[in-house]
Amino acid sequence: MNIAVIGTGYVGLVTGVCLSHIGNSVTCIDIDLDKIAKLQNGLSPIYEEGLEEMLRTNLHRKQLNFTSDYKKGLTDKDVILLAVGTPQHEDGFADLSALFSACRAIAPHLHEHTIIVTKSTVPIGTNERIKQYMEQNGVQHFSVKIVSAPEFLRQGSAVHDTFHGDRIVIGGEDPAAVQTVEELYRPFNIPIIKTDLRSAEMIKYASNAFLAAKISFINEMANLCEHAGANVADVSQGIGMDRRIGKHFLSAGAGYGGSCFPKDLSAIIAYGRDVDYPLSILENVQAVNERQTVLLAEKIRKKFGHPEGKTFAILGLAFKPGTDDMRNAPSIPLINELIESGAGINTFDPAATENAKNILPKGVNYAGTIDEALAGADGAVIVTDWQQIKDYPLNSFKKHLVNPVIFDGRNCFSLEQMNGSGIEYYSIGRPAIHLKG
Ligand code: NAD
Repeated sequence: MNIAVIGTGYVGLVTGVCLSHIGNSVTCIDIDLDKIAKLQNGLSPIYEEGLEEMLRTNLHRKQLNFTSDYKKGLTDKDVILLAVGTPQHEDGFADLSALFSACRAIAPHLHEHTIIVTKSTVPIGTNERIKQYMEQNGVQHFSVKIVSAPEFLRQGSAVHDTFHGDRIVIGGEDPAAVQTVEELYRPFNIPIIKTDLRSAEMIKYASNAFLAAKISFINEMANLCEHAGANVADVSQGIGMDRRIGKHFLSAGAGYGGSCFPKDLSAIIAYGRDVDYPLSILENVQAVNERQTVLLAEKIRKKFGHPEGKTFAILGLAFKPGTDDMRNAPSIPLINELIESGAGINTFDPAATENAKNILPKGVNYAGTIDEALAGADGAVIVTDWQQIKDYPLNSFKKHLVNPVIFDGRNCFSLEQMNGSGIEYYSIGRPAIHLKG
């Protein structure tokens, strides 16, 4: 099929590249000229495993191209996928300005058979609004075909997830349009669920809300474990073996972040309020997460008193391993708080350093290696569980730190490993390990 993808971020670029890989002819359109220039030269502006190689292969095969020119990009397209950002507006709702600006740009280039597929996460009723908007803004002679196909890929394994996702959701009211989108996705061989537009929109929000709830649930249990003298890792294993509960998303830690959970939770909560049905479970999920993201700072204060004059090595900045994305990363409030308290900060992240420099306050040091970040620091604070950090030898922590103390916000090491390591160890929901003598 001839496809256009609007927006070349984590979702749009990965989707465009993967759809070209399975034989479609794909044009990706973005208003960010720098991004387009990089992409035209085979360089991925984002970090995702395997993405850049696949991008180059398909550029070379001429299955894929990039432009910022809507007219050129939309010529002869059967399907247009919308994958622009829908960030959080200050009132909590999703900010749909980029989405409607893309719709305005698309409208003049639509023909009777074009199908618009919304991959962006949008509030319930938005797909109907898009159709109405197009029909009021230039498309008068035919009925606009719109399909909702929300995206479920995970940053950090986005290419893998596109080929091996759990399900594809296709919502729409026009059977022929739904069938075309089904055919587009069939080669991935992933189970497809067909539904109406509103249910498709709802599935996306309900999925993220449930996953966020699972995280806040286990974090709440972790905090209780600390009071009870229990070990949350064993508790997670013990409850996760019950198939009705499931073992995934039960790792206690320093809270969730990222470009999706915080804003999607906020959007569905705002929607609930708007329709006069407050979502009290989700409001508490949010509150528990906010508390969780400052927990490491509390643990540091408990150990050191006021952190002024101390230096901490923050290991991991990205909101999760495998990505360079810093949006709503739990490292941000932690570092802000430590810097405001007068602490010195060294950081290490294998992918997110450049993005972090635009977000973190002045005075933060960026190290190229873990050794360098730890050198002369009073303690290490693990915020993102990159494999490289999990594999880092405990002896090297001891060698480089002034005080052998680790605050582990991702429970990277087992208590067995830490016992007798000569390192004071504070993790989440598990007993602290103090040094003897
Ligand atoms: P992103 O911010 O990484 O990328 C959005 C891109 O859209 C940017 O490159 C931006 O320049 C471009 N853009 C903005 N306005 C445009 C316009 N008018 N025309 C063309 N391009 C325009 O966003 P993302 O993380 O890829 O998320 C996109 C959507 O997918 C969001 O709704 C998000 O909630 C949803 N989603 C994201 C993920 C994820 O893991 N990131 C997963 C599932 C769903």
